[in-house]
Amino acid sequence: MAKPQPHDETPPVIWWLRQDLRLADNPALSAALKTGAPLIALYILDDETPGVWRIGGAARWWLHHSLRALAGDLETRGATLTLRRGRAAEILPELVRETGARAVFWNRQYEPFAIARDAVLKVALEQHGVVVTSSNGALLVEPWTVKTGSDGPFRVFTPFWKAASSRIAVDALLPQPKRIAAPAGPPRSDALEAWNLAPRAPDWATGFAPLWQPGEAGAKQRLAAFIDEALPAYATDRDKPDRSGTSRLSPHLHWGEISPRTVWRAIATRAEAGGGGLSSQADKFFSELGWREFAHHLLFHFPHIPDGNFRAAFDAFPWRQDDNALRAWRRGRTGYPIVDAGMRELWTTGWMHNRVRMIVASFLIKDLLLDWREGERWFWDTLLDADLANNAASWQWVAGSGADAAPYFRIFNPVTQGEKFDPDGTYVRRWLPELAALDTRLIHRPWQSSTPPKDYPARIVDHAAARDRALAAFAKIKA
Ligand code: FAD
Repeated sequence: MAKPQPHDETPPVIWWLRQDLRLADNPALSAALKTGAPLIALYILDDETPGVWRIGGAARWWLHHSLRALAGDLETRGATLTLRRGRAAEILPELVRETGARAVFWNRQYEPFAIARDAVLKVALEQHGVVVTSSNGALLVEPWTVKTGSDGPFRVFTPFWKAASSRIAVDALLPQPKRIAAPAGPPRSDALEAWNLAPRAPDWATGFAPLWQPGEAGAKQRLAAFIDEALPAYATDRDKPDRSGTSRLSPHLHWGEISPRTVWRAIATRAEAGGGGLSSQADKFFSELGWREFAHHLLFHFPHIPDGNFRAAFDAFPWRQDDNALRAWRRGRTGYPIVDAGMRELWTTGWMHNRVRMIVASFLIKDLLLDWREGERWFWDTLLDADLANNAASWQWVAGSGADAAPYFRIFNPVTQGEKFDPDGTYVRRWLPELAALDTRLIHRPWQSSTPPKDYPARIVDHAAARDRALAAFAKIKA
């Protein structure tokens, strides 16, 4: 019998993976498999669509390893991963033509450039008789499904979360397929290595691998460890950078290696079984997932927030230009230990504790008076969990320019923040070895030591004076 040719088979369907790099509880994959047709799993590295925020350096490292893990997971089920690079609006129709695919499935994204691109693609594909099905694989509550009493988007977290959380019903999760039928001749694929996503010379990501396991298996392990070890004290320990009190699920959630529904379900199940105060810990954790939902709600309804102030009054804010100060902040050489420890943790591990993110962001914006977008861009390039919605909403929250933001005049004091949240200096000593020998009384104020450590810089600003300067700048836009 003649070997079947690709076009003699049932036409394939395409599952276009984007930020849903997983097989379990994946609505687009499940819908594609339901057709019974051979499946092409496609990832497009799209740095070219107009308006795209090109994936940052650290996140590219993550993507490299996550795609490798995914390719392995697909292979063990009989399928392959097809990699292509370029504008999705061109690549996808091209692959449809090459393979004779009759249907395309994807999970929705909420970034403005992705929404615009997907809308155009859907129309173009459907004009050629290709059925397009999109699903929700990333959020507990999609942005258009919750509305205020006056039928508009929410701008304040508490009422948003009250309305949103009441709609969350995590019923059965979608199963992870055991076998996936693939076309007899898989389409041409780029080699992952040829994309050069992971840095080589120099390899500045050597600190990442010991701490992270990108991919679906790593996400599951991270969730299980969090539930066992940190959930019981989450509400208090989540604010302490010297402990492992949070889940560190953020990069896994950003890349969709685990669905928020899976996370919710696992934690709710444990809280129900565990009794004894676990449910209040779980509620606190759910409300943090709620901030992720809120950020996506804001980005969808106010798509300018990655680039422009949510509150237009801040357009007139007198930001300073100071390359030396910006460089000192990025490198963790401001002379304020908690700020510098955070910035070095970020550079070394691709992650920073949430409390410290707030402190370093406040320092950049209010002590240095530098535009929050400078910080947003640095985080975008250095965070493994860099996420357009979470990053933009959080930076604007700290700046005071955002929706439901911290008021501008609330200015973190980096010394008292350090003393409150890292009282023994454990966190600072971990990231600033040059301060390791300093007495705990002085660990957050080394300039008061009679023998200040030699290798550690002097403060680049005096906090009290910087605070007055920030309040004066704010008074200008208030006026
Ligand atoms: P957990 O405490 O275990 O929380 C569980 C999950 O809830 C997180 O994984 C995350 O998905 C979500 N979450 C928690 N806090 C927030 C929050 N404030 N806003 C939105 N989602 C939240 N988070 C990102 O995922 N990507 C970013 O690019 C990002 N940039 C930030 C920039 C600044 C200036 C600040 C102050 C915060 C930023 N955050 C960002 C939010 C938060 O710091 C991280 O989500 C959190 O530290 C991740 O650690 P975790 O997974 O251990 O959190």
